[in-house]
Amino acid sequence: MKLGAVIVAAGRGERLGNPIPKAHLLLGEKPLFQYSLDLFLNHSQISEIVLVTNTSVSQEKVKVIEGGARRQDSVEKGLMALSPDVQGVLIHDAARPFLTAALIDRLSAALREGNNAIAALPVLDTVKEADGGKIIRTVDRKTLWRAQTPQAFFVSQLKEAFAMARKHSWEEATDEAFLIEKSGGTVYCVEGDARNLKITTPADWEWAEIVIARPKAEAIPG
Ligand code: C5P
Repeated sequence: MKLGAVIVAAGRGERLGNPIPKAHLLLGEKPLFQYSLDLFLNHSQISEIVLVTNTSVSQEKVKVIEGGARRQDSVEKGLMALSPDVQGVLIHDAARPFLTAALIDRLSAALREGNNAIAALPVLDTVKEADGGKIIRTVDRKTLWRAQTPQAFFVSQLKEAFAMARKHSWEEATDEAFLIEKSGGTVYCVEGDARNLKITTPADWEWAEIVIARPKAEAIPG
């Protein structure tokens, strides 16, 4: 099965409070998006990469296309830009620079076994439902997972789910698994990685700078 990757990097990253789009800010020596791009470029399972961005970049061996108004629109554009013979796709947020080759391995394996799958982590905190700060109840966390990217899907199923979303004006999706779930498809959780942080706030950015500045020998065992 031929696998492709779509990396979405067309957001403005307003919550970071910097006029330069988040994915293009320098984290150490390279822009944020380059971390995930390099990992996909060096991974033997991935045959084709589409980078979705509104900033002009030229990258060898990468198809660069313009993004849409919402994240979901950027993902759909990226999906449509894949070659017709790509059967499986890993969708990834450029805002998660610390994904690992092992994550790509696990997701590729799930697709090759016939399953859509997302990287996810079980919720470990006690979770409260509250209204205006007042607790209504404690939610049973046993069945709760935190969804990450990459998320891996059969291209045909994901295209069909996007078409249904458009036709029936579904609410905005914050990930693609939602679209597959809603269209009646099945998605599995594979083990994510706690280090696969999504950079959203200035505090996340500070954390990312600490991570990349750390000498390799101090790497936390996985
Ligand atoms: O804004 P947020 O951090 O949730 O965005 C997640 C990812 O989606 C980021 O990598 C961002 O660049 C991308 N995105 C996009 N097009 C948009 C909005 C977000 O590619 N219109």
